[in-house]
Amino acid sequence: MAYPSVHIAVPAWVEEVVAGYDAPLLTTRDRMSFVITLSKLNLRYGGGPFAAAVFNLDSGGLVAPGVNQVVNANCSVLHAEVMALVTAQQVCQHYALPRMQLVSSTEPCLQCMGAVLWSGVAELVCGARGADAEAIGFDEGPKRADWVEQLGQRGIVVQQDVMREEAKSVLDEYARMGRAIYNGRTV
Ligand SMILES: [Zn+2]
Repeated sequence: MAYPSVHIAVPAWVEEVVAGYDAPLLTTRDRMSFVITLSKLNLRYGGGPFAAAVFNLDSGGLVAPGVNQVVNANCSVLHAEVMALVTAQQVCQHYALPRMQLVSSTEPCLQCMGAVLWSGVAELVCGARGADAEAIGFDEGPKRADWVEQLGQRGIVVQQDVMREEAKSVLDEYARMGRAIYNGRTV
C-alpha cells in the first residue's frame, strides 16, 4: 500500500484576495490589517480564525500568505504560521528565511514557536495574545513564559499587540459561530 502524500497549498481564494488587495502593505500595521482580513475570510471558507504572512524586510514585498488549514486538510500541524512559513520557503527555494518578517494574527502556539525558530525569520509580529486564543478554548501548549526573550536571544525580534483588539475580534466571532475548537483532545 502506498501511503498518502501530504500536499500543503495555500487555498485559491487567498491568492484571489492577494491579487485584489490594493491597500499598500508598507507598515507593520498595514501588514497586520491584511493578515486580520485573511483570518476573517478564513472563517467563511471553513478554516480556523488564524492567518499569517511572510514579508521581505528589504523589498517590503509579500512573500507568502497562510491561513489555518487544520480542519480543511485534516492536518493538525497546518496552523497559519506553518502555512506561511513553508510556502515562503518554497517561494524562496530555501529552508531558511533571513531578512524576513512573519506577521501573525495571533501569537504562536508551542508548535509554531518552534516553527518560527527553525525558519530563521528575523522578525515576528503578533496581533492577538495567546491568552486571547485560550480564552475561547484553544490550547496554546506549555509555552515558556519568557518565549519572547527566548526568541530574542536567538536573533528574532518580537513585536506584540499590533492591532490586538481587531485580531481578537475574529477569535471572538469564531467562538460565537460555535465552530470546532480543534485541539486533538477535544474533538
Ligand atoms: Zn500554532
